Amino acid sequence: MRTVKAGYEIIDELENKNVIKKLEKIARLCYKSENKIIEDSCYNFISGIVRRKHEAMIEHAVFAFEFDCYLGCSILDLDVGLLKFINFTSGVGDEFIVSGNARAFKDIYRVDSKNVAINSILYFLCNKYPVLFEDIEPRRIKGDTAENEEVRDFRMLGCNEICGLPTALRLDHQYLTVKFIVDRGVSHEIVRHRLAAYAQESTRYCNYSNDKFSGSITLIHSECLTEFQRKRREDYFWKTQELYDLEISEGLTPQIARGILPTALKTEIVVTANLREWRHILKLRTAKTAHPQMREVMIPLLKELKTKIPVIFDDIEISE
Ligand SMILES: Cc1cc2nc3c(=O)[nH]c(=O)nc-3n(C[C@H](O)[C@H](O)[C@H](O)COP(=O)(O)OP(=O)(O)OC[C@H]3O[C@@H](n4cnc5c(N)ncnc54)[C@H](O)[C@@H]3O)c2cc1C
Repeated sequence: MRTVKAGYEIIDELENKNVIKKLEKIARLCYKSENKIIEDSCYNFISGIVRRKHEAMIEHAVFAFEFDCYLGCSILDLDVGLLKFINFTSGVGDEFIVSGNARAFKDIYRVDSKNVAINSILYFLCNKYPVLFEDIEPRRIKGDTAENEEVRDFRMLGCNEICGLPTALRLDHQYLTVKFIVDRGVSHEIVRHRLAAYAQESTRYCNYSNDKFSGSITLIHSECLTEFQRKRREDYFWKTQELYDLEISEGLTPQIARGILPTALKTEIVVTANLREWRHILKLRTAKTAHPQMREVMIPLLKELKTKIPVIFDDIEISE
């Protein structure tokens, strides 16, 4: 049995240069198989994830597009119900900005493959990131390019362009991915935030009796405990470890043996959300009413974001 400190890491603030590598890093966290990452392993791995329909992982690949008015307006022809996972706003001038993740665009396409804006997005993404879209084949339809005089081209916005948008547009179209190392209790609170994508270390697939984990469960100790209370908990956790190992040695699978594991078990969880949702999360989870172990990671994260993107986060007050 080991203990580690809680923490966080901003995986990818603004860069979207290698989306497939980013997805591999995130999805492998579920199985704790990051040691298998090599030069080009991401393509086969993510292809397998998509084929197995583990599409929640591709929610961490987020894209923003600028459309001219005509093409952008065709988004409004979609059923309102299909729009719930994409963001759609007017741009600075006549144009429209649409952002969302690979899964959201794919799901809309599956229901309405005729929509000209969605078809254009999917055609573009399929060519740029084929591994994410092997199971669909959008046509290049007349009207989505300069072939049609009425329609100017649409384009994907780069990170720098998104950062250069007015604040109100950045809130909706700029996304941030953060990895947290926390206990299972805190992670359970994090996933209550609905407007985000998640990937979490799996107690179903990770076998903590294995050599990969040095045959040891890992725990997060609360800073709120006295030394005496820490020791007392440790005695209890050793017994938990023994029982977990025993059940595994008796042939139970990790997903069944996990029933014995405590809430203090260390977990890793990746969260991707737009800046509007991060503001909401950070306001709630840094407040005095939030769990102390939640504040332990959210307050430093907010401080870092205040430095990195002050225009978005500066007004959120921290009550220490
Ligand atoms: C101090 C504290 C104590 C808590 N105690 C409890 C508790 O005892 N029990 C418990 O069950 N939970 C508890 N929670 C969790 C809480 O109920 C929320 O589930 C969690 O904070 C997610 O935040 P949210 O619902 O505001 O918004 P998110 O899920 O982050 O969504 C962001 C915003 O989107 C909108 N939105 C999202 N989904 C919907 C929807 N379906 N309908 C309408 N609008 C929507 C809302 O405007 C919302 O503010 C607690 C949270 C805190 C911070």
